Amino acid sequence: MGLRTYWKKRDFSKTPEPEGEPGRARAARLSFCIQKHAASRLHYDFRLEMEGVLRSWAVPKGPSLDPADRRLAVHVEDHPLSYGGFEGNIPAGQYGGGAVLLWDRGAWVPDGDPVAMYRKGHIRFELRGNKLHGAWVLVRMRGRDDEGGRENWLLIKDADEHAKRGRAGDITGQRPESVDSGRTIEQIAAKSRKVWQSDRVAASGGSEWQKRLARTVAQARRKTKTKRPQRRAA
Ligand code: MN
Repeated sequence: MGLRTYWKKRDFSKTPEPEGEPGRARAARLSFCIQKHAASRLHYDFRLEMEGVLRSWAVPKGPSLDPADRRLAVHVEDHPLSYGGFEGNIPAGQYGGGAVLLWDRGAWVPDGDPVAMYRKGHIRFELRGNKLHGAWVLVRMRGRDDEGGRENWLLIKDADEHAKRGRAGDITGQRPESVDSGRTIEQIAAKSRKVWQSDRVAASGGSEWQKRLARTVAQARRKTKTKRPQRRAA
């Protein structure tokens, strides 16, 4: 994919996000990060270093430690490696406007050739993060989304000693804080309250996958009738 789509969507004179450098493969240790992103819809961006960029998936519900949970992961555009350190507020009106919290980071260890597994649509790997550990799998589902051409994948915890069943697996609920600053998403957002509020209007146009996400979330809400207090200030 490369970074062209990433660059096209952003005006780096207006957003504090890193512009990044043309991909240069790095040796040995591969990084991963997860960013909690309060855009028009709250989601978690799951990023794996591969071929000199961060290959990225937007996970609406975030990771779960319960192997029974299959979390939708919408494949989105590659991001620069330097994005892995980003935490802050993307200004309203810019692509993905809203608060970004660095939720986890560390190394990922592919169980085989990472690029071959990626192309095949079945990536097996180990995470060595602050919050996430052990074996995981990312699997591409059949078919493509007609609207945006985005691929739907599933992020699943593999059964091992780091897996936790049921409520104990709710790692995003138990550990909402930034791995970088210890702040909550509300605290990060509060630093630019104006951006935060106007963003909800500005972002209502949304990208293709965000629109689809909105429908998925609405469906899930109708089914479960649960509400998460995601936009309350601390
Ligand atoms: Mn995002």
